[in-house]
Amino acid sequence: MSSLLNIANPQKTSWQVNFARDLPPYLDPVITDWLLQSPEILTCLTDMYSSPLNIVWPHTVANNLKAMAALTASFGIKSKFYYGVKVNKSQALLQAAVSAGAGADVSSLQELHDAIRAGCHGVDLCATGPAKTRDFLKELILKGARIAVDSYQELRDIIELAQIWRGNFEKISLLLRLRPDANCSSRFGMLSDEIIIALHSLADNKHLELAGFHFHLSGYAPETRVSALLDTLPLITYARNLGLDPRIIDIGGGLPVQYVESQCYKTWLSSQKFADYRTGKIPACFYPYGGELNAEQWLTVFLESQNSVGDRISDILCKEGLTLCIEPGRSLVNQSAISVFRVCRVRPHTDDSSVIFVEGSSFSACETWFNSEFLIDPIHLRSSNHAQNHSPGKAWIAGHSCLDEDVITNRLISFVHLPQPGDLLVFVNTAGYQMDLLENQFHRHPLPTRLTALMNPSNKLMFTVDN
Ligand SMILES: *Cc1c(COP(=O)(O)O)cnc(C)c1O
Repeated sequence: MSSLLNIANPQKTSWQVNFARDLPPYLDPVITDWLLQSPEILTCLTDMYSSPLNIVWPHTVANNLKAMAALTASFGIKSKFYYGVKVNKSQALLQAAVSAGAGADVSSLQELHDAIRAGCHGVDLCATGPAKTRDFLKELILKGARIAVDSYQELRDIIELAQIWRGNFEKISLLLRLRPDANCSSRFGMLSDEIIIALHSLADNKHLELAGFHFHLSGYAPETRVSALLDTLPLITYARNLGLDPRIIDIGGGLPVQYVESQCYKTWLSSQKFADYRTGKIPACFYPYGGELNAEQWLTVFLESQNSVGDRISDILCKEGLTLCIEPGRSLVNQSAISVFRVCRVRPHTDDSSVIFVEGSSFSACETWFNSEFLIDPIHLRSSNHAQNHSPGKAWIAGHSCLDEDVITNRLISFVHLPQPGDLLVFVNTAGYQMDLLENQFHRHPLPTRLTALMNPSNKLMFTVDN
């Protein structure tokens, strides 16, 4: 009750919003305005719902989808986007993607049911992940979802299930997942000669329908997708010669997100030193946080790329009458969440650095568990109670558990004013595999609350719990 009153009558404490200077993140304008104009609301919400607190912003998903779809439309090709549901556990973000016209790419019974709850049905549901159980396959078949077949063994399961459940579906819509020669050591997908065997099974089976071909590659280079797409073209011809009618090339996910301005990121990377990390070690690899391309630019490079005789990918798709299907996860949730940690304690660590303990753990900001770093600076909400303390300071950030490894940043962050207990640290753009991939109830701490920020008709933000 008192917390609710606090929102109407913010406490006397005022809050200053400070950005560090090394790797300032890109930030959605709606979130920026809100944070700068009313930081006290965020501090009240953190008091009410405890730290860490995740806030998701569904409007960003609609913006991201609109921008990508406009780009593919500008090339005159048919396209369809499927939200990679695993990217975040929020139902509100899934709902936003489906409401904006995306399908859903699901990898478990639970994701399937949540996508249906969000209003996604039939071939707007697809399952492109590997190693699907028979229970999951059965449910996909009965719900009319499109299935990307990962292996010949999986196809045999589907053929058996089709026999058992015939009469309960029209035709099972299938994509065959290619393992391009360039990725021959991968455990996902089928090599061309296995695909050819699968095509013959499909041609003989009246329950199954070949919708097209699929691949999903790791890394973020458009060139590898261009080369994989060109690898599927002879398979399309082969399938057509068997009387099949493939209409889809599905290029999976991996469209990049820019978290930090590209030049700033390059400068940081080229000037970083061992001493910038409390470990004295620079991680071997990072997500390309400040890459040169955003998702739309990536799609442009991809669609403008040419085969060996100078035909553009976009023209090949048009000429062959193919629909381009894409399953973006991370790039559809660009800017879609912020994660707030309250500072618990600050201790000097070396002569010129401190360690900040926050209320929360690295399971809620998990890049260090992959031997890497989330290379953006948190925003510091500084209480006016500390106004007398102006000293700048470098600090790394640790969680509140007893694990040595519970470290949110090994990197020393250059704060304009060293944070103090009660201040907040706000990581932005955390929706993509950051905020909840590893979250758990270690030490029996409750799972962090996830709030949804919604704009009401009079353009005021409202916050509800996202279940
Ligand atoms: C995770 C995944 C995606 C989404 O990848 P992003 O990098 O988040 O775009 C798409 N397809 C498959 C098969 C995946 O496993």
